Amino acid sequence: MVQIGNEELIGIAKSVVKPKRISREVSTGTIGCALVTGKGNVYTGVCIDASCGIGFCAEHSAIASMVTNGEFKIRKIVAVSQSGKIFPPCGRCRELMCQISGDALGIEIIVGKNKVLKLKELLPSPWQKV
Ligand SMILES: [Zn+2]
Repeated sequence: MVQIGNEELIGIAKSVVKPKRISREVSTGTIGCALVTGKGNVYTGVCIDASCGIGFCAEHSAIASMVTNGEFKIRKIVAVSQSGKIFPPCGRCRELMCQISGDALGIEIIVGKNKVLKLKELLPSPWQKV
């Protein structure tokens, strides 16, 4: 299995960031996400910001890509902006990771340039799967 370092994963997430306004209501790609699966594969995604709360985060997009490819275990994940700012996942994404991934509470989440937390630290009282 190929090991992917945090710097490399941050770089991959940043490489998919391509901010674009596609309509009055929708902009895309302001945040990019990269995740590594239990098998060592990398999937990426970008956010879709849309009116009426129908958009979704870059993490959602990357997780959907992982699932589309038949994988369900996240090992490590990061989300970044064009400037390279790292964003911890929102509550909805934390819950999605918890519900969809095997060994979810052990997922490593890059929350800063030199800071990695496990999902269990960001979601100490999960709704289920304890
Ligand atoms: Zn989110």
